[in-house]
Amino acid sequence: MTRVVLVGPPGAGKGTQADALSQKLSVPHISTGDLFRRHVSEGTPLGEEAKRYLDSGELVPDTVTNEMVRERLAEPDAADGFLLDGFPRNAKQAEVLGNLLAESDFKLDAVIQLEVPEEVVVSRLLSRGRGDDTEDVIRRRQQVYWSETAPLLDYYHDVLIKVDGVGDVDDVSARVLDALHARR
Ligand code: ADP
Repeated sequence: MTRVVLVGPPGAGKGTQADALSQKLSVPHISTGDLFRRHVSEGTPLGEEAKRYLDSGELVPDTVTNEMVRERLAEPDAADGFLLDGFPRNAKQAEVLGNLLAESDFKLDAVIQLEVPEEVVVSRLLSRGRGDDTEDVIRRRQQVYWSETAPLLDYYHDVLIKVDGVGDVDDVSARVLDALHARR
């Protein structure tokens, strides 16, 4: 159970949970948002391209995103598994991920949906205060989530595990681990 995707609206706690679970499951936490932010802060060509999308809350174009993920998943630490946070975010990305895994005869073991009510996610994001956590950009990221990403929940219905994302970080991690173990 180590090839896992975390899904949920911005502010659902995907990154926090992926960090906690990465240690417990001994697989890397791969966050496309973090990868993009690193490119932006290092001023790479990819970062130059991605910046305006991050700043506005739009998705970075698939060609850029998919290639970045392909390279990251090819690194040795991801050979035995990973926790993907922020990818896939639309149907095309989901197809690309499926194809990448199929090349090595792998498939996803689970897609964890972190369920958190909208008022909770917005207040979490406003208190986080990242550069793209202004009210307008938060609202846009939520819209993009519901229109582009939420339809993937259906696409993944046979590996989908819903977890209540409200509560202490440790409680939520325990719920995710229980749910993953129950699947084995
Ligand atoms: P959040 O989940 O709070 O929106 P992320 O760090 O996951 O934060 O994403 C921040 C931004 O990075 C997104 O608004 C988007 O511009 C870009 N991004 C992250 N993942 C993807 C992806 N899979 N495809 C396209 N753009 C992405």
